[in-house]
Amino acid sequence: MKKRKKHKSSILQQKGEPCYLCMKLKPMREWRRAVHEHHIFGGSNRNKSEAEGLKVYLCLEHHISGKEAVHNNAEMMRLLREDGQRAFEQKYTREEFMKMFGKNYLEE
Ligand SMILES: [Zn+2]
Ligand SMILES: [Zn+2]
Repeated sequence: MKKRKKHKSSILQQKGEPCYLCMKLKPMREWRRAVHEHHIFGGSNRNKSEAEGLKVYLCLEHHISGKEAVHNNAEMMRLLREDGQRAFEQKYTREEFMKMFGKNYLEE
């Protein structure tokens, strides 16, 4: 595999866009500004998320404070991981995804 840059912007959205989950789940008039960067695969996979651009920009409510916040809501976490895997698989194979993250979020 090619050597990759360490800091990469999101491969799921453009920097400066509104919150990823607002755009995905809410009508346009309710979109909020993104204030935090969220790594889709955290914990021991955080560095890989960073290197591959598997992150999104979120509003506070969708990141940590609301009941639909990704850190409070397993469904939201799952949704982002599915989208993250899909984005990764635009460039790489499923085998490469599973090798890197140890799991397949798109078939269970
Ligand atoms: Zn939001
Ligand atoms: Zn986060």
